[in-house]
Amino acid sequence: MLTIHFKLVEAMIAQAKQDHPIETCGVIAGVEGSNLPLRFIPMINAAASETFFEFAPKQHLQVWRKMDENDEEPVVLYHSHTDSQAYPSRSDIELATEPQAHYVIIPTNPKYGDEIRSFRIVNGTVTEERVQVVNEYKSLEQPIIENGALAAAEAV
Ligand SMILES: [Zn+2]
Repeated sequence: MLTIHFKLVEAMIAQAKQDHPIETCGVIAGVEGSNLPLRFIPMINAAASETFFEFAPKQHLQVWRKMDENDEEPVVLYHSHTDSQAYPSRSDIELATEPQAHYVIIPTNPKYGDEIRSFRIVNGTVTEERVQVVNEYKSLEQPIIENGALAAAEAV
């Protein structure tokens, strides 16, 4: 199950709508082993594609380096599907390398509903999991959504 703060869900949906019809993508980092998504990091879709996404190599490196420094890991890896159901595509499955991560897909075409869905992808096997959206975490930790995070992502 993915337990996630509603502000993070809102931020993912806002970014996905803003990028539509291009697929949006990003990371929500959390402390290693905590399974708690906290730090929202919108990413650039370097492919600027309507059917897949690719992190910009430079940003990818910077973001992963920063997580290393903070003893964080990607708790959520999210992207949008702009004209297909919110289920991992063949390339999503092939490129999934983080067995501890929750792979979240946001549909931006109302034809496919408006609920985000979350999956585990381990060795090519996809397992859907329940998403529990909460108003606050039990630990009372607050999500970190830097002001202008979306604008900053656009400027990279
Ligand atoms: Zn996909």
